[in-house]
Amino acid sequence: MQLEKRLAIHYILFIGFLVVQISMFGCSTTKVSDTNRQQRIAESPQWNGEAFQNPEQVPDVEWWPSMKMFWNYFFSKPQGFIPDAPLPAEPFDISQWNEQRDFQFAWLGHTTFLIKIDGIVILTDPMFSQKAGSFGWASPKRYSRTLASTDVLPKLDVVLITHNHPDHLDEDSIKALISRTKHFVTPLAVGELLEEWGVPHKNISELDWWQSKSVGDLTITAAPAKHTSERGVFDKNMTLWASYGIRGKKQNLYLSGDSGWFVGLY
Ligand SMILES: [Zn+2]
Repeated sequence: MQLEKRLAIHYILFIGFLVVQISMFGCSTTKVSDTNRQQRIAESPQWNGEAFQNPEQVPDVEWWPSMKMFWNYFFSKPQGFIPDAPLPAEPFDISQWNEQRDFQFAWLGHTTFLIKIDGIVILTDPMFSQKAGSFGWASPKRYSRTLASTDVLPKLDVVLITHNHPDHLDEDSIKALISRTKHFVTPLAVGELLEEWGVPHKNISELDWWQSKSVGDLTITAAPAKHTSERGVFDKNMTLWASYGIRGKKQNLYLSGDSGWFVGLY
């Protein structure tokens, strides 16, 4: 009896030790993909040792003006900031999309474009949710209607992501697209979040600037953009952002992502 009691105590202590270890250090099964990603980040010319950086020095966003901007956005929107009526836009019509054309676009709201080029179908920054981010009431709500749901879209060859801001990288939209998408192309380090959301590692291509991914006859090349990345308070510029050049047999396309041509970020 005494021995059983002692064994039980040891057993409980051992389980407790394991729980503490796991909660402190997580399961120590670092995936090969994570190691590769870490190495690629460390070797990236865009990585300064602590964070990704822009191609040129841009002024820091100052604290007070950005606080004022947030205050005005939430509590004191200027007149005309919100459209009085829904903006006119046609919902996506798959019957029109299926007409045989080599090169066509459909705008699906915000920066979500459905693009067909040389028979390859690309969807950019899919955002079909009503709100961007998971900050409850503070999450920005869309002004334009969602012009399509993922159910009515054609099969996708590529989902192309420009950066990880929640209005460009939306969890529910990505999860809904996993089963109908062959490839996900993202800037370097963004793939980790996609994997967390269930996208198979083999379907993700993470590109540093000037790296390319071939899909059919298309070559998709990530290029510089002036922007930032973050999804919370402590992950600023931990993942890369990009614009893209898409080179086809007859048509070429440039997707700027969020970027600016002036001395500033946006
Ligand atoms: Zn952005």
